[in-house]
Amino acid sequence: MEWHEVFKGLSAQVPAAVIEEEERERAGLLRRFRANLGTARGALRDHFRAILFDDVGEELWEQVEEALIFADVGVEATVKIVEELERRSAEQGIESRERLLDELAAVVVEMLRPEAPGAQLIDVSAKPSVLLVVGVNGTGKTTTIGKIAYRLKQLGKTPLVVAADTFRAAAVEQLAEWARRCDCEIVKQAAGSDPAAVVYDGLAAAQSRGQDVVIIDTAGRLHTQVNLMRELEKVRRVIEKQLPGAPHETLLVLDATTGQNGLRQAEQFKQAVNVTGVVLTKLDGTAKGGIVIAIREALGIPIKLIGVGEKLEDLRPFDADEFARALFAGD
Ligand code: GDP
Ligand code: GDP
Ligand code: MG
Repeated sequence: MEWHEVFKGLSAQVPAAVIEEEERERAGLLRRFRANLGTARGALRDHFRAILFDDVGEELWEQVEEALIFADVGVEATVKIVEELERRSAEQGIESRERLLDELAAVVVEMLRPEAPGAQLIDVSAKPSVLLVVGVNGTGKTTTIGKIAYRLKQLGKTPLVVAADTFRAAAVEQLAEWARRCDCEIVKQAAGSDPAAVVYDGLAAAQSRGQDVVIIDTAGRLHTQVNLMRELEKVRRVIEKQLPGAPHETLLVLDATTGQNGLRQAEQFKQAVNVTGVVLTKLDGTAKGGIVIAIREALGIPIKLIGVGEKLEDLRPFDADEFARALFAGD
């Protein structure tokens, strides 16, 4: 899965040179993705390397379970995976570590496959399209918005970012810096303004200036949970009223290093706003990549993008196959 394939409503206008460039870079990107996933990959592999294969039996499966729990796959999904592995092992006679890891990757790919074809795409076919970005502070919302805007720009769309995290002046400044970096427009107001008012301005600006995609940054202070959710609901209502059919996507940004905590955050945000996809950040800095599986299993929300670093290019469309193989499969 490449960037020009992730955005729905794009292909007609994608410059051929960009697609060629993406294809040329594919191999390099995959290497880089694997390298960036190094910590998760290394730790899991060490765990699996320690598993003894002399005796395929109860003890082996307990060790596999432990490795998956360690990787934040979550209890429910782990039980499901191990049951399936046991079944396949009995059926096919799996006797080597490499075969087990390959089979594990295959089982995980099946679990991560989107429920419906196209469910993991990001719809930017409406003009303007609205992407609402939510999540707890520090998970990487603002950074992710910069990275998405950069890709959209490359693919021939005009993004406009909206600084609706008005709680801290620094948050507005940070988004403005990303907007400068990827040469896109920003709508902002003074810190402390009503976020819903900024969003209203942003949508009006996009409509009058003919911008293609509006990406809205929001606040995410956790200790004011109830207020925060109320604020997000209000922002959502304003968008819906101003532009029927919007927001076209509500992306929840989760920090992979927070492990199972991310799952609880996802549950809360899912209740308050209609989350259509998850962006999982900081997969480069964790051994806990398994949270992807837990989220998909428990909440049924597709993972759409993954963050593997702090740079502009360090966001990838989520590809179940690529991900499971990078994490588990032997090579
Ligand atoms: P926000 O509070 O949700 O808007 O989070 P920010 O976008 O300000 O990001 C918080 C920190 O996480 C910043 O230092 C980012 O550079 C960093 N960050 C964001 N995404 C990633 C990622 O995928 N990998 C790494 N290593 N750091 C990231
Ligand atoms: P503190 O005194 O700085 O810790 O701020 P509080 O947590 O007491 O919150 C003060 C006010 O700011 C409350 O009315 C909250 O609704 C609001 N508030 C808290 N967090 C956020 C946020 O992330 N964004 C926005 N816009 N308002 C917030
Ligand atoms: Mg931010």
